[in-house]
Amino acid sequence: MTSHSDHPALVPDHPDMPAVLGGMPTFPAGAPGWPLQDDAIREVLLDAWEDGSWGRYHGPHCDRLINALSKMHDGADVLLCSSGTVAMELALRGFKVGSGDEVILAAYDFKANFQNILTLGATPVLVDVEARNWQIDPSQIEAAITEKTRAIIVSHLHGGMVDMQAVREIAEQADVPVIEDACQMHGAMVRGRTAGLWGDVGVLSFGGSKLLSAGRGGALLTHRDDVLQRIRLYTHRGNDASPLSEIQAALLLPQLARLAERNAVRSENVERLTSQLKDRVAGLIPFHCDLSNSQPAFYKLGFRFQPDEFAGLTRDQFSCAIQAEGVALQPGFRALHAIHSQRRFRAIGELPHATEADVNILTLHHPVLLGSENDMRQVVAAIWKIQIHAERIAAYVSG
Ligand SMILES: *Cc1c(COP(=O)(O)O)cnc(C)c1O
Repeated sequence: MTSHSDHPALVPDHPDMPAVLGGMPTFPAGAPGWPLQDDAIREVLLDAWEDGSWGRYHGPHCDRLINALSKMHDGADVLLCSSGTVAMELALRGFKVGSGDEVILAAYDFKANFQNILTLGATPVLVDVEARNWQIDPSQIEAAITEKTRAIIVSHLHGGMVDMQAVREIAEQADVPVIEDACQMHGAMVRGRTAGLWGDVGVLSFGGSKLLSAGRGGALLTHRDDVLQRIRLYTHRGNDASPLSEIQAALLLPQLARLAERNAVRSENVERLTSQLKDRVAGLIPFHCDLSNSQPAFYKLGFRFQPDEFAGLTRDQFSCAIQAEGVALQPGFRALHAIHSQRRFRAIGELPHATEADVNILTLHHPVLLGSENDMRQVVAAIWKIQIHAERIAAYVSG
């Protein structure tokens, strides 16, 4: 082994030295933030201050948002609510999910979806994800259906996409409704339909990190009158029990107007990253959608991390090193079976792919994807830098 002093690549501040070993970060200013400092948002806030709509129960903004969302979703009925999590709970209530029932979902999914099922006294039934793209495996759903099944929750995660046509066929055969979680996919196209429209109910989030952000907020899309009626009966208690406010709706309108344009920029940058990574880096493979007539939206870009290609660095160690470069590449969420007692759920099979997803998914946060072509080159250069120096980083972190 060479010592620190006689190896030129180990001189601190050398541009090729990873920040985690004392070099200059690729992005010294850090990762770009969210929400954007948009002039349109500033105007909305000033208008609301001037006309007092920020402080009123009612006004024009929620109705405008409902109309805009409905138009974007093929005329679906839209119900606004306080979060994506609440939208999912309302959807489950709309299908009368309760004590003794079962709801199917992927073992790798957003934790609140699991928690909502428990809240209603029902049992989550976990199925594995596909090895190919770590989304729910439609072929596993069939084996999970029993006479107790009340609903199937299907989430599109990290820029991956579920073949909703396959899911619908299985669900219709069994006469079980589908709830499509499109909280990470605003405005995406799934086999020729806008994301959220394949479900009997679709769920959107306007949380503070999402592609459409109002700090908090959510919406539910449906063509099912009976379900909507049941949900309205539950939420209307002389007042709306889980409302979206006028100011939140007002803030979402200008973002909705620019969603398609920003989605296009993000998609273009995902293509750039994907092709450059393929050329320069081994073992960090972006999620890829190969469904026809489809265009994902990127709240996150998911990656499969392969430790062997990074001198045995764990996903979390790699994540620390790349975040030190100013690149927001973070671990995905935990798999549901890995963080909950087995008494809480029923599992279909051993869930090997969800177990791997738990350990090896990385996600790139969407503000990065609004950057320039050069930013994308720099992101790839930062990853490459970690790969080149992986052995030294591994030696450093192990003592
Ligand atoms: C963000 C998100 C939600 C809902 O989140 P809220 O913060 O409650 O609005 C639901 N599902 C997925 C997959 C999400 O990413």
